[in-house]
Amino acid sequence: MSKNGLVLADVRDGELRHVTLECLAAASQVMEDGVVTVAVLGSNAKDLVEKLSHYGADRVVTVTNPKLDQYTTDAYLQAFLQVIEKTDPDVIFTGHTAVGRDVSPRIAARLQLGLVSDCTAVDRVDGKIVFTRPIYAGKAFVKKAVREGEVFATLRPNNIAALEADTSRSAVVEELDVTIADDSLRTLIKELVRKTADGVDLSEARIVVAGGRGVKSAEGFQPLYELAEVLGAAVGASRGACDAEYCDYALQIGQTGKVVTPDLYIACGISGAIQHLAGMSNSKVIVAINKDPEASIFSVADYGIVGDLFEVVPMLTAELKEV
Ligand code: FAD
Repeated sequence: MSKNGLVLADVRDGELRHVTLECLAAASQVMEDGVVTVAVLGSNAKDLVEKLSHYGADRVVTVTNPKLDQYTTDAYLQAFLQVIEKTDPDVIFTGHTAVGRDVSPRIAARLQLGLVSDCTAVDRVDGKIVFTRPIYAGKAFVKKAVREGEVFATLRPNNIAALEADTSRSAVVEELDVTIADDSLRTLIKELVRKTADGVDLSEARIVVAGGRGVKSAEGFQPLYELAEVLGAAVGASRGACDAEYCDYALQIGQTGKVVTPDLYIACGISGAIQHLAGMSNSKVIVAINKDPEASIFSVADYGIVGDLFEVVPMLTAELKEV
């Protein structure tokens, strides 16, 4: 039976990504009475210890090497491999984020671990850990049971609830000194330039307002940004809108873009192609605004509004401002 769970924390701009707390919840659930360790990298790692303890970590391994302040594959891979060697986990979790997707197959290959990626649920059934993950672009789900041996899983953000914070918890903290030779680093980050405006992170947003080719122009996205501001939402897009240069590809949702699972997804002028649905159909509530009553997006929508988005969206924004 698995005893030790290790979560590799995902930190962005010095802040923990919420999916790290979701990984802690998953690890706590399947480890039963085992130890849940979390590894957090970067100069400010110690500032994050308290929050990690409150959300389920029994042990926090900090690696405060400044070479880990920004993600680079070489540095993180070396650091995580040294943390894994030190902590000897049975199950490793990280978020299915840009970092998790880059580093997890490399770690799994180096250590010959099984890798279950993009999981939407993790359970313990009859002593086995059962991972659920979508297949066929989200049309079906497969359950994979792991009886024994080491395994690495990446969790899709916003699918597993984080534990309630327990401020009475405090974890054992351990600083690990890792070796990262300068000549092993093939990339050097000189400057980070964000392609999208500051605001809510699309992958972790609780509400997403997304625009498609029906938005018709870059300016046509303005009403969507106004609605998003009132709702505290992130703005996303279909590939149709990105290809038409109405917005940046950083906003693309779908099979070849970001996968989102918000509580509320508002699709504006999006037809609902299968490749788009692959990135958003697991949203908890879907609202579709489209002037074509036959649009496929209505087949996955909980609420459909047949109408012109340039009339409907400003109306919604005005109503919500009143609330
Ligand atoms: P359209 O299909 O052109 O739909 C526009 C919709 O807007 C229509 O339904 C129309 O009725 C409606 N509309 C127009 N004007 C208004 C108005 N004023 N008010 C309300 N509604 C209006 N697509 C993705 O989104 N994400 C992906 O990751 C992705 N990956 C792909 C990968 C591959 C390999 C391939 C082949 C395709 C991929 N696509 C992806 C593209 C996908 O097949 C569709 O072409 C794309 O999703 C269509 O975008 P759209 O819905 O914005 O545009």
